[in-house]
Amino acid sequence: MPLTYEMRFYGDLHCDTLWRCYENRTDLEAPGLQVRRGLPFRHLQTYAIYIPDTEPDPYRYFRAVYAYAREMLRKYPEMKLCRNAREIDESFAAGQTPYLFSVEGGGFFGTNSHKNQRTAAELREKGVAFLSLCYNRGNHLAGGVHSEQGLTAAGREAALMLREEGITLDLSHLNRPSADALLALLPDHVAATHSNCFSLTPHPRNLSDEQIRAIGARSGLIGVNFYPPFLTGKNTAGIADILAHVRRITALAGGETAAFGSDFDGISRTPEDLPDTGALPQLAQRLFAKWGAEQTDAFLYGNMRRYLERSLR
Ligand SMILES: [Zn+2]
Repeated sequence: MPLTYEMRFYGDLHCDTLWRCYENRTDLEAPGLQVRRGLPFRHLQTYAIYIPDTEPDPYRYFRAVYAYAREMLRKYPEMKLCRNAREIDESFAAGQTPYLFSVEGGGFFGTNSHKNQRTAAELREKGVAFLSLCYNRGNHLAGGVHSEQGLTAAGREAALMLREEGITLDLSHLNRPSADALLALLPDHVAATHSNCFSLTPHPRNLSDEQIRAIGARSGLIGVNFYPPFLTGKNTAGIADILAHVRRITALAGGETAAFGSDFDGISRTPEDLPDTGALPQLAQRLFAKWGAEQTDAFLYGNMRRYLERSLR
């Protein structure tokens, strides 16, 4: 049976569209956005709330961006914030466009366990499904890809608390020692929402083969990132390069691990044949030609959906 993209579901584990809107005080109609509105297929978007590692009061910053995002997204009656897989299913069934939040650089957690617990519960209540403890530079919780520091005691405590709430620890911006320490600590609730394979493209933002296997062994998710330097090490890339990373992840970790984390609106360059979410059906066609309908649906959405059903209990 040929692949009819209108019938398909798509999911994205990461975009920076909200950050762009917040910075420019614009909305989803702003010209030039790579995550587009009104797509002719069903699409579940995860919107990242990015917090700089240097931000003195990260939680206040988070609340400011979150408030802006909720207010701005309320303009679009079809958009529905979902907190678990059932709400996502219901939202799709009602013809709505479901979305989730993630946090990139969540240096919120201190030494007060009660306060930490409250923060984690509040994040979950606000629809945060994925959180990375730091961004590239690192903070008092963990080291980012531009630092040598490992996971700290406070970072470990925060990770366990987040797992307890059902929030997934995102390894994407962590350096190798910090990510490895989280993998050793957590039997599940781990993902790399927008990272590729180091063995194909040796970039510090990409994952080692051991990490990819470890994420697979924890039934985690890896969102293949569309940024050409992470795909090819060069400024240009195409869907063929995305397919190569999907193939490698699948060879190492099995067919339930790979998904997509476009990084759209956070990247200045895109694959030539995948400039924005409107071109996702082309990616679907190419996946289908290689893997057939069932596995294509798993990569596009099924793996993400199944994962969220387990994590967001
Ligand atoms: Zn990122």
